[in-house]
Amino acid sequence: MSQNFSVAVFEGDGIGPEITGPTVDILKAIAAESNSYGLTFAHAPAGAAHYAKTGESLPEQSMKVARESDAILLSAMGLPDVRYPDGTEISPQIDLRKALTLFAGVRPVTVKPGQPSPLTLPPGKQIDFVLIRESTEGLFYTQGRGEVSENEARETLLITRDISEKLFRFAFDLAATRKAAGRGRGHVTCVDKANVFRAFAFFRDLFDKEAGRRSDLTSDHAYVDAMALWMVQRPWDFDVLVTENMFGDILSDLGAGLMGGLGLAPSADIGLDHAVFQPCHGSAPDIAGQGVANPFAMILSAAMMLDWLGVKHDNLALRSDGQRLREATEAVVGSGAVLTRDLGGRATTQEAADAVKAQLWSQ
Ligand code: ATP
Ligand code: MG
Repeated sequence: MSQNFSVAVFEGDGIGPEITGPTVDILKAIAAESNSYGLTFAHAPAGAAHYAKTGESLPEQSMKVARESDAILLSAMGLPDVRYPDGTEISPQIDLRKALTLFAGVRPVTVKPGQPSPLTLPPGKQIDFVLIRESTEGLFYTQGRGEVSENEARETLLITRDISEKLFRFAFDLAATRKAAGRGRGHVTCVDKANVFRAFAFFRDLFDKEAGRRSDLTSDHAYVDAMALWMVQRPWDFDVLVTENMFGDILSDLGAGLMGGLGLAPSADIGLDHAVFQPCHGSAPDIAGQGVANPFAMILSAAMMLDWLGVKHDNLALRSDGQRLREATEAVVGSGAVLTRDLGGRATTQEAADAVKAQLWSQ
């Protein structure tokens, strides 16, 4: 029996539409071949350009499309010269994260032999870990609402039992799924600063409680400062890392750095009912409209979406297509023949996406 899934597509701003079109084309081609699932796509206008045109950055109708979808594919939103009247940035992706309670920010960090990276991999090693960043509270809780007076500024750090329990359950589930798929060893590391902040001791305590319930998996802890060092010194040792919002924000950029930049870094923001998949990079207005943007991070985000839908709905074909799409993209990057400018090549966005398509059907 074939399962059907609806995908809400936010093309967003800048290079967004340029990288979204070819990615959706690839997804359509993959789904067309499957007799165990189908995908339909619903366009959801939002973002800075949409705000400039209509006065709305995230229209109610787009929010409705997102809520009713099985998964959300989003490119990037925001433009430097379009802001709200109070001067704040237009970032509907953050509004979506809040409205849909997407508490787990998932940032896979992978470097295979041959892939560009500032690190030299020791023989036989590859980098393949996932950083999970709590995305609704922590040190970002008062984001934009901190108290500032003449001589003092204060922000609040909030860790709740409810969100932390959901976050840790998600982290251990992900470690189990990875282990079953032959990636990782079923190990979760809690990254915190429990030696200095009571809130993080609380966070760690809740982590240990979940760890105690998962006899099939192993766990340990690390302080965030030490983790920054280890992510550079021995990133091949990690499996699943789970951390607070701001620490995750910083470490995920470090992770993107290990992967040779933002052009190959996918991400997902996942909640209990909804999930958004998007590249880590922004809307890159400096190269928009030229047809030269790198589509790989967007395509890898789409692969994560297939994986997630497959796990959630117990559909093996979706999971294996997610893996196929990721492997095809990694093969194109690894061969170095068709790369966009940011990766040192001369290919256009369409040529890079076509290379992934060709690879998919030659595997
Ligand atoms: P945001 O605030 O939205 O995260 P940002 O200021 O971090 O945005 P990006 O939009 O991510 O900036 O762009 C940073 C640099 O990386 C720019 O020079 C941009 O051209 C480049 N860049 C980002 N994404 C891509 C891509 N997919 N392909 C090629 N270059 C990219
Ligand atoms: Mg940025």
